[in-house]
Amino acid sequence: MVEHTTDTIAAIASAPGAAGVGVVRVSGPGAPAIARVLLGRMPQPRHAHFAAFRDGAGELIDRGLLLHFPSPASYTGEHVLELQGHGSAVLLDLLLRRVCELGARLARPGEFTERAFLNGKLDLAQAEAVADLIAARSHAAARAALQSMEGVFSRKVEVLLQSLIALRVHIEAAIDFPEEEIDFLADPAIGQQLQAVRSELAELLREAQRGLRLNDGLRVAIIGRPNAGKSSLLNALAGSDRAIVNAAAGTTRDVLREALSLDGIALELADTAGLRDTDDEVEREGVRRARGELQRADVALLVSDAEHADADLAFLTPLPAEIERVVLINKIDRDGLAPHSEKRGHARWLWASAKTGAGLESLRDHLKHLAGAGSGEGIFSARRRHVTALQQVAAHLDQAAHALAGSRAGELAAEELRQAQRALGEITGSYSSDDLLGAIFGSFCIGK
Ligand code: GDP
Repeated sequence: MVEHTTDTIAAIASAPGAAGVGVVRVSGPGAPAIARVLLGRMPQPRHAHFAAFRDGAGELIDRGLLLHFPSPASYTGEHVLELQGHGSAVLLDLLLRRVCELGARLARPGEFTERAFLNGKLDLAQAEAVADLIAARSHAAARAALQSMEGVFSRKVEVLLQSLIALRVHIEAAIDFPEEEIDFLADPAIGQQLQAVRSELAELLREAQRGLRLNDGLRVAIIGRPNAGKSSLLNALAGSDRAIVNAAAGTTRDVLREALSLDGIALELADTAGLRDTDDEVEREGVRRARGELQRADVALLVSDAEHADADLAFLTPLPAEIERVVLINKIDRDGLAPHSEKRGHARWLWASAKTGAGLESLRDHLKHLAGAGSGEGIFSARRRHVTALQQVAAHLDQAAHALAGSRAGELAAEELRQAQRALGEITGSYSSDDLLGAIFGSFCIGK
């Protein structure tokens, strides 16, 4: 194992505030020497030793446990020391100072995990999952982050990477024998292989998007004609009177946002202007923003009613395929309908009333389902940058397919595949820049 660092870092790894136990963590080449001073002898690897932690003058700071994890079998891959004392901010601070006197320096946020990454203990996606696990706001999000930390996501990326490399080898072999290139590239097996990689990628992208929603929350854009009941629905879901409800058509002109938590799953609802052609300048701006909002949403929630539903479906047609569609037939109290739910094509239809609340529980359940809650095996957490990277891979694969199908341009296709491979490698960190690492680890908490 290559150790990239020569200094020894230390931090309080437990949360601030009074607690039963608090932990100071040390990592680096100086850890064994610090352990020897604190314990009075060399600790046995991976054994809990009861120790009296003393300051430089021999004064007792605290009594607690000392554990030594020699390199490389430790979290960071370096020599690691864990000092467990009483969970008092004052005592832990004294203990940390003592460790620094003995040669350690204060760790930066995320520096332990960064060292674990640099020493090959974790890849980048796994390291990010550590932070996501700590920050998880729901059981589902924590479970997903744990899966990513265990390498579920990284292994899928690796499988895809291998398929991509096999395809590249195939095409580059054709380029290396130019006299046979045309025949080689015309081989339908290459096209099929590319298609197979493309569908493997599409599946991974879907899973990553679900993982992203679990992490970041589900973005829902509420759309529909003026007066359909969009603001009323937002208010009913948010339980406040944030949006302005008005019986005159066209009131909600700006985009209103509301952050909700459904059983710990984060939702961001955006109430948009009614989508209709209008001469009113201000309202037209609202319509433009509504369309923008739709482009960045995970879910388009169309609010309509029994009378207008068929016509309103047109609002959903221009949307990208990956946006989930929900059609809410509102005002069932007025129309004497019963709340129910059914799947029609790619959309979920729900009958409800924003006014009485009938049917809204099914809507909440469906939104939770779309956010990835309750789904079982194979769910992993992901970040926006992972999804963006996978989308780049998809674009490069499409370009490669295009190059092959049209002019049998093997060189171009190979170049696209090379870039696809690079974008994929950014997820796990086989390609990464210092800026990226700084941004990722800088957002960690200290001591992790
Ligand atoms: P928006 O323009 O789509 O935001 O619609 P609003 O939420 O402002 O509602 C327009 C009108 O429809 C208001 O008078 C609401 O009280 C009424 N409304 C909204 N939802 C319901 C519902 O479920 N039942 C009934 N009867 N009226 C509703």
